[in-house]
Amino acid sequence: MKIIYLAILTLAIVLLSGCIQQEKGSTVVPNTTNPMTSNDEIKGLPKQTNAAQPPPSSQIDYSHEYPASAANVNGFEMKKTGSGFIVYYHPGDETNANKVLAVLEQGGLNLYKKYLGFEPKDMPVYMAASVDEYVKIADFPGGKENVAVGDGSAPNGKIYLYKPFGETIAGKTGGVIIHEGVHAAAYRFFGQDKIRYLPGFLNEGMAHYLEYIFKAGSGFDPLDLIYHSDLLINGVKTGNPKLLGLEELAQKCDGYISDDILNFLCRGQGTYTVWYIKETYGEEVLGKFLMNLKQTQNWQNALNNATGKTTSQLEQEIQDNLKSRVG
Ligand SMILES: [Zn+2]
Repeated sequence: MKIIYLAILTLAIVLLSGCIQQEKGSTVVPNTTNPMTSNDEIKGLPKQTNAAQPPPSSQIDYSHEYPASAANVNGFEMKKTGSGFIVYYHPGDETNANKVLAVLEQGGLNLYKKYLGFEPKDMPVYMAASVDEYVKIADFPGGKENVAVGDGSAPNGKIYLYKPFGETIAGKTGGVIIHEGVHAAAYRFFGQDKIRYLPGFLNEGMAHYLEYIFKAGSGFDPLDLIYHSDLLINGVKTGNPKLLGLEELAQKCDGYISDDILNFLCRGQGTYTVWYIKETYGEEVLGKFLMNLKQTQNWQNALNNATGKTTSQLEQEIQDNLKSRVG
């Protein structure tokens, strides 16, 4: 009886926390003619839309050697320590551990500081060597059948990776690492109690946004890069699927979303929202919003304080902007 109670309590806490940012979708194959797009995080390396600014992914020096030392954490025997992150791994994974840390230290730290206004300290990153280990340590609710090589998640301010750099999709792991790093950094910035005030669609939107900047540079075209942007385009042109307003996005996009269309809308519209706000209100607007949200604990007020616009004004602006881009 006690065990059942504990299980229900644990489930309730997990659900209520609203911070399970598992990257599902790796088994979703919406376009069977092109297996390269079978993961919702990754489209391979996109075309560069701003030649003046090379993407951070092209700047990573993987030959930089980070020091290794013995560890004894969660069954991991080794660690590599940088200034913001500590990567835990098993013996034999040292080369990939070094690559993971290179992405975070050389790419992640700068991106998080520049666009979110804060950077993590001592953030743990765990490199699981098997699906069983990944599902167990990451407490992954999607089950083993929904995990693919190169996947990641960040449910509690820590990053969990399954066989990073073991995938065959070019550029997948780098994007996943930057993406999960956003979730983990946001969790640590707000803390366990306050992370729930950050709406899921904005959390996902920020994670995808920085993932795309990492891969393509800051001048990327959102309708080129947003995974399943066809849904946004069809939504504008035909009304199907019906695009969601900001309040609806905040209500419907939380936790683990099993409905594919809703999942893609939450991520796609979330990314478009973040992209639009940053393009229109400047590089520091996301940092202002996050800092304000931590104080006010109200995302509508925080958006208003950061942009000077009400939620409905912003919603209208974003709709109009999307319409004009779709043409
Ligand atoms: Zn995510």
